[in-house]
Amino acid sequence: MAIRQTAGREALGSFAPEFAHYNDDILFGENWNNGDISHKTRCIITVVALMSSGVTDSSLKYHLENAKKAGVTRAEIAAVITHTAFYAGWPKGWAVFNMAKEVWAEAVPAGDAKAAHAAEMPFPIGAPNDGFAQYFIGQSYLAPLSTEQVGIYNVTFEPGCRNNWHIHHAKSGGGQILICVAGHGWYQEWGKQAQPLRPGDVVKIPAGVKHWHGAAAESWFSHLALEVPGEGTSNQWCEPVADADYHALTDL
Ligand code: MN
Repeated sequence: MAIRQTAGREALGSFAPEFAHYNDDILFGENWNNGDISHKTRCIITVVALMSSGVTDSSLKYHLENAKKAGVTRAEIAAVITHTAFYAGWPKGWAVFNMAKEVWAEAVPAGDAKAAHAAEMPFPIGAPNDGFAQYFIGQSYLAPLSTEQVGIYNVTFEPGCRNNWHIHHAKSGGGQILICVAGHGWYQEWGKQAQPLRPGDVVKIPAGVKHWHGAAAESWFSHLALEVPGEGTSNQWCEPVADADYHALTDL
């Protein structure tokens, strides 16, 4: 794998063309491509050299990222920094560890995003909403908070999840109120612009109005759904929200 470097010319090409040439063509162009020691070893040596010199600016960050790309594991970089700290100085070890921790940070697993969302709200996420799954795109969850007097449910949508177009019918009264509790979502009435939803937003949906609600494409979302009592209430489920329409929503 040949190393190619353009940072010198990009940053200093007009100010110091000779330095840019040495940087891009000689240091990175020739020296970094010398195969007598492995690329991974060269990355480690560079990190050690910068650490020993007390250089802990963006160039160290760059070379730590480089080392990670070259296959240096978290355990290896920890051992390298610890070893070097004995010879180069303890505070340098701390400084480099603080940077290495960011570079080798673990990506958040999908399961943790749900847990992080749950931690943002006082209401439980509840169980997978299997009973209504046929009327949803994506996975939703339902936690009943009240099933008598006024029905109140905490509904949680995974990113991209939304319910189909639907209508809450009633002869009198009825309809639905949404109280947003966590994450970002959308509400749309038939023939109108979709409106973004954030925690604290309240949506009053009259009986007979065709609408849908759900999460934003990139965010978990939860709202309380209140069933407004009425005479002769029923729900009518209609077509799914078209992918193209949903993915065109970009105001969040
Ligand atoms: Mn509804």
